[in-house]
Amino acid sequence: MTEATHANLLADSVRRMLVGAARWSDVVEHGYAGFFSIEHSDSLADLLIVMTEMGRRASMLPVLEAAIANRYAPGLAGAASRLGLAIGTFGLHEHASSLVFARERVQGTARFVEGAAEADEWLVLTDDCFLCVVRRDAEGVTVQPRPALAAGFADLHFSSLARARSLTPAQVTELLTIVRLGRAARAYGAALAGFEAALAYSKQRKQFGKAIGSFQAIQHKMANSHMALEGCRLQLTAAANALDGGAANWRALAASATAFASGHLRKVALETQHCFGAIGFAEEHLAPELFRRVHTDVVRLDGVRARAELGECLLAADGASIDCLLDRSDDAVGPFRKRFREWLAKHWSKQESDASRARPECERPWDLFFAKRLGEAGWTGLNWPKAAGGLEATPLEQLAYAEELIKAGATDYPLICSCRIMAPEIIAHGSPLLKQNMLPGLRAGTVTACLGYSEPDAGSDLASLRTRAVRDGDAYLISGQKIWITDGHRASYMLLAARTHPDPELKHAGISLFVVPMSMPGISVHEMQAMSGQKFCSIFFDNVRVPVEWRLGEENAGWSILATALANERIAMGGLAVRVQVLLKSMVQAVQQRPQLLRDSLTHDRIGQLAAELVTSRLLVAQTLEFGSSGAAPLEQAAMAKVFASELAQTMCETALDLLGSEALLSKGAKDVPADGEIELLLRTTIMFVVGGGSNEIQRNIIAQRGLGLGR
Ligand SMILES: Cc1cc2nc3c(=O)[nH]c(=O)nc-3n(C[C@H](O)[C@H](O)[C@H](O)COP(=O)(O)OP(=O)(O)OC[C@H]3O[C@@H](n4cnc5c(N)ncnc54)[C@H](O)[C@@H]3O)c2cc1C
Repeated sequence: MTEATHANLLADSVRRMLVGAARWSDVVEHGYAGFFSIEHSDSLADLLIVMTEMGRRASMLPVLEAAIANRYAPGLAGAASRLGLAIGTFGLHEHASSLVFARERVQGTARFVEGAAEADEWLVLTDDCFLCVVRRDAEGVTVQPRPALAAGFADLHFSSLARARSLTPAQVTELLTIVRLGRAARAYGAALAGFEAALAYSKQRKQFGKAIGSFQAIQHKMANSHMALEGCRLQLTAAANALDGGAANWRALAASATAFASGHLRKVALETQHCFGAIGFAEEHLAPELFRRVHTDVVRLDGVRARAELGECLLAADGASIDCLLDRSDDAVGPFRKRFREWLAKHWSKQESDASRARPECERPWDLFFAKRLGEAGWTGLNWPKAAGGLEATPLEQLAYAEELIKAGATDYPLICSCRIMAPEIIAHGSPLLKQNMLPGLRAGTVTACLGYSEPDAGSDLASLRTRAVRDGDAYLISGQKIWITDGHRASYMLLAARTHPDPELKHAGISLFVVPMSMPGISVHEMQAMSGQKFCSIFFDNVRVPVEWRLGEENAGWSILATALANERIAMGGLAVRVQVLLKSMVQAVQQRPQLLRDSLTHDRIGQLAAELVTSRLLVAQTLEFGSSGAAPLEQAAMAKVFASELAQTMCETALDLLGSEALLSKGAKDVPADGEIELLLRTTIMFVVGGGSNEIQRNIIAQRGLGLGR
């Protein structure tokens, strides 16, 4: 059974149990009170699935509490006891006075304990690291209810006999981590249920004569919430798997999941309420209960502390800790990564790496010698089918390839458009003549290309492009203008989209794709300087004669080929997450050299938050690639990965400006420049990532319309 099938079955069975007014006895009967007990599964991943389902119903049945008792104090509480959990001073907001265990008694006060009205026994974590069980009716327990946003809060005063188990500091850390992740999963479930209900509502509630879900303001709110929820889900799964598998980075991943959830779920709950309008404000609606659950759990995640912990962890160590948080070198692509890394070590010298790093990276270094070396070793066919002599690397292997290049300070820019984007389309749709002409050079790494899609009046609305290709015997005559073409001044070929049907109303159905040598008579190139330092070009076509054999696919059938090429372009953008990772590493190093900043808790908080966002970005990219490797077009996933990474890159630069001030404005080469000048450079470049490859607004439209099924 696959992991996903198991998760779905488990979630289904919990959902069935929770139909109607589920009681604690139902939970016990179904075995969900037995997590981490000897006879039960001890997977945290499973516990989080159950907690998510609890959250969906805003249920406070104490599955988490039972799991904690089973794992850390087996046999101390009754097997069917309904437990309330007091974590005393270990909870950031939950303490008043200290809780201690001495002479068989718990002494002290625990504040803001949930489930007070129903608990049979209290599970109390004392400051001196004892996990105690106190009977509800024990002498010396006073329960003082505290009316709050969600029902069932109480302060507990103890001077009572207890059974106790002593825990090691490592066990306490692990216990608290599981509590936080459990609460995060429940908050996630509640936020998800609210979101799903709001999504359904936005499809049927009509205003101004149409469903409110067709308004872009609502669609973009939904897209943002969906991204945040996906980020939470992926992070919780990664953290649970890391803890279950005993991975070295489980603490950092758990802090990251907690920090991410606490930063995003409340916003999702608020946006959900906004989408419902007044109807969601009525207490008889399900939204208020979910809203209360999300806010109550999130506040008790100690997200602030998780961010600080993550920040401290990164700032205390060298940059390797960031790689350790994000790297997947031990994953399924390990052997591939190792092979490419070893090849790079032999074929990309330290001097070349230093020289390359000294150049502004976003000027897109055009290293044709290195491109040839890649060709000689066959890396040019990275994503080509084996039948065409390619490596047929999986999308995750392609990402590993891009990551290793960036880490080594090398680039394969001259080959991205030609080998990664154009070549697979030539292999799939090219005529025999075109293949014969193009493939040897592409394989050798000597062919470069640019992408000719955008026009002055066709940016986001690409299908309204007007460049014409008119059939003239065995050739087409191409006339028109392309604009903002990256590398148009130095690429040897262009992958060009032109209108082949005379009726402009046909839009998508009238477009064909061509491979056009840039040396053809009738092409003139006008260079423009981009803010990032790179050149992009306006390119004019005046009756450029291109043989029919250089068309890709059937006439007027170019749009679907273009869609694949665009998806490949967004996959290539996955490398952006790695650049952000490199920048975070440099920022951490810069902060480490500034003692005043290093002492400031704000610095820890901001670095921790960025790291948590970066983990999500990396997971979204991986999800896109995994989805893509199943053969489906990962449109919605690619859109999420692109939006998230590009906006994170912006936030990263803005944060660097906040923390490092004017120094962060210094350019590469300036004396004492932090992060090697990458901050101001990436700040300029990020605009391109947000606007290019389909702007983020368009990507949000895709997420909402294709991913969430909201109508236009
Ligand atoms: C550095 C750089 C390099 C580039 N390289 C290339 C290249 O090599 N080849 C190539 O073909 N193109 C290239 N482009 C062009 C790029 O693809 C376009 O910029 C992009 O598609 C957006 O089009 P536009 O700039 O015309 O913006 P517009 O489409 O005019 O959009 C302007 C604003 O309106 C918003 N908007 C537009 N329509 C909608 C809508 N329906 N809903 C909501 N908001 C909307 C956009 O999101 C954006 O915020 C490059 C761009 C840049 C900045």
